[in-house]
Amino acid sequence: MRAIPNCFKALYAVHKSRIQVMASRNRKRIGNTAAVGGDVPGDVSKKTTSRSRQAIKIEFEPDVNNEEKPDLMSLKDGIEVPMIKSETGDGDTQTEGPTQVLKSEDATASGSTDAATTPAKNKRSKREPLKVEPPSNWQKVLENIKIMRSTKTAAVDTMGCERTADLTVDPKIQRFQTLVSLMLSSQTKDQVTYAAMERLKARGLTVQSMLDVDEKELGDLLNPVSFYKRKSIYIKKAAKMLRDSYADDIPATVEDLMSLPGVGPKMAYICMNAAWNENVGIGVDTHVHRIANRLKWTGVKGTNDPEKTREALESWMPKELWQETNILLVGFGQEICRPVGPKCDTCLNKDICPSSTAKTKKPKKLKA
Ligand code: SF4
Repeated sequence: MRAIPNCFKALYAVHKSRIQVMASRNRKRIGNTAAVGGDVPGDVSKKTTSRSRQAIKIEFEPDVNNEEKPDLMSLKDGIEVPMIKSETGDGDTQTEGPTQVLKSEDATASGSTDAATTPAKNKRSKREPLKVEPPSNWQKVLENIKIMRSTKTAAVDTMGCERTADLTVDPKIQRFQTLVSLMLSSQTKDQVTYAAMERLKARGLTVQSMLDVDEKELGDLLNPVSFYKRKSIYIKKAAKMLRDSYADDIPATVEDLMSLPGVGPKMAYICMNAAWNENVGIGVDTHVHRIANRLKWTGVKGTNDPEKTREALESWMPKELWQETNILLVGFGQEICRPVGPKCDTCLNKDICPSSTAKTKKPKKLKA
């Protein structure tokens, strides 16, 4: 075997030391960026940075933008990465990037694109609202769902956002607590949100207490709510806005609610219903979106985002039914028409639902 000449060895040593210096600089840069982002594990940036040699701060789209642009995760440098979406057993959407973005804060329901680093900029669509014809058998389907939901045994019935406010306190504080509960509920199971609300209320959950509480302490109280760090920032920012502009109350319109950080259309419509008892629209979460599409209540082609689902439903459903639709379908989705493995066999709609997997098969004709 031939010996390696000394000149090559010297060249290799110089090259190796340069690589080490560059790697060390990159590591420092990644550390700084991850510290700013907070929610994003360092290895995500590391993988991206090693290719581009740029410090990349990862910014997630806020909830409202997620609903407008559901399938993309934006990186600061204008790179948009397709995301993989799945739904938890509770119907919450999980969003996975190409690297391990999911492992940021919550293993049970994570990857939320509502974890923005800046307050949500809520752009309302100027296009004409979607209109669809009323489905021919919708009354029968709805009646069956009401029968199946009559036991009220779903998580949403006892731990939903409508059930979390302390009914013994001032109505203004109750409304704030309902709003906070909704802000926590995004991408989080009802049980986890409910437990976090109990911890918050035990400490005192008012606009003032949220202004006073240290961000770290608030995060610790919220954990394991998904994206609890981001949500604690949102709650504190929202509390400041409520103090400055709404005299410690919450806004009374969908548009104003959506001007709060981390509040999208779904939360705003549910909040109008739950906190103000105002029937201004249907709150469409992943359960409502999924079930409405399975039942073809959103037209033959269906819809690909919850806002369009809301418009489609509101175009034919009588307004007096809007308020009950969210909780009715959420509970139905939690127990029967589940995201994965719907229990079509036990569903009263199995013979009339266009997506049923349990339709009675016609007997084969016998040959003469
Ligand atoms: S038949 Fe199946 S898909 Fe259709 S509503 Fe019932 S559970 Fe859902």
